[in-house]
Amino acid sequence: MTDSGFVGLADRLARVRSDIDDAARAAGREPAELTTIVVTKFHPATLVRDLFELGVRDFGENRHQEAESKATQLRADQPDGLDLRWHFVGQLQSKKARAVRRYASVIHSLDRDSVLDALARAADEHTEPIDVLVQVNLTEDPRRGGVVEAELDRFVERAVAADGVRVRGVMGVAAIDAEPRAEFARLRGASERVREVEPSATWISGGMSGDFREAILEGATHLRIGTAITGNRPTAG
Ligand SMILES: *Cc1c(COP(=O)(O)O)cnc(C)c1O
Repeated sequence: MTDSGFVGLADRLARVRSDIDDAARAAGREPAELTTIVVTKFHPATLVRDLFELGVRDFGENRHQEAESKATQLRADQPDGLDLRWHFVGQLQSKKARAVRRYASVIHSLDRDSVLDALARAADEHTEPIDVLVQVNLTEDPRRGGVVEAELDRFVERAVAADGVRVRGVMGVAAIDAEPRAEFARLRGASERVREVEPSATWISGGMSGDFREAILEGATHLRIGTAITGNRPTAG
C-alpha cells in the first residue's frame, strides 16, 4: 500500500473507533465491552498486514478459499504465530467446515445441522472446541441465511450438546430495507432465548458499517465492520 493509502486507512480506522466509543457511551455502555472485527473480504493480505500494524487483531472473512489464503500468508510472516483471530462470517457449507475450522477462531454463521455435524466430526483434530455463534434469520424470508426463529430453540439445544463447538451467542445481519434498530432488537430477543439454554452464550454479533450505532444500542458485543474502515472493496460484494 502507498503511504497515502496507509494514512487514509489509519484515519478511517481512528474515526470508526471513536464513533464506536461515542455510540457505546451514548448507550450507557463501556467501549471496552465491544469487539470490532474488521471485515477484509475482497482485499489483499497486504491490507490485513497494514491493519495489524495499526493494532487490529480481529479480522472477518466470508469465503473459505480467500480466508484460507490470507491466513496462510499472514502465518508465513511469523512462523511462531501472529496474535490475530479470523472470524468466519459468511455462509458455510458442511464440506468446507473442517478446513475453515483449522484457521478460524470463531464461526459467526452456524445455521444448519449439517455444518454442526461436520464441526463435531472435525473435533478429533483439535484439543479445544471452536467458538461459534448461531446465525439468526431476522427476516420473514426463509431463503436468507440464519436459523428461523421457530427453529431456534431446537437448534441451539442441539448445538450446545454437540462435540467440538462452544456456543458463544448469536449473530444477525439486518435486512437492507428494514429499520436497523428493530432488527437488532429482534436479535437481542433471540440472544435472550439462547441464554435460557446456555447462560454463558452472551455474545451478540450485529452491526456493520451502516448500522453499528443501532446495534450498539441493542446490546451488540461484536461489530463486523468492512467498508467504513477499509474503503470500498476492489470488486462488488
Ligand atoms: C461484508 C460483511 C460485513 C461488513 O459489511 P460493511 O457494510 O462493509 O461494513 C459484515 N458482515 C458480513 C456477514 C459481511 O458479509
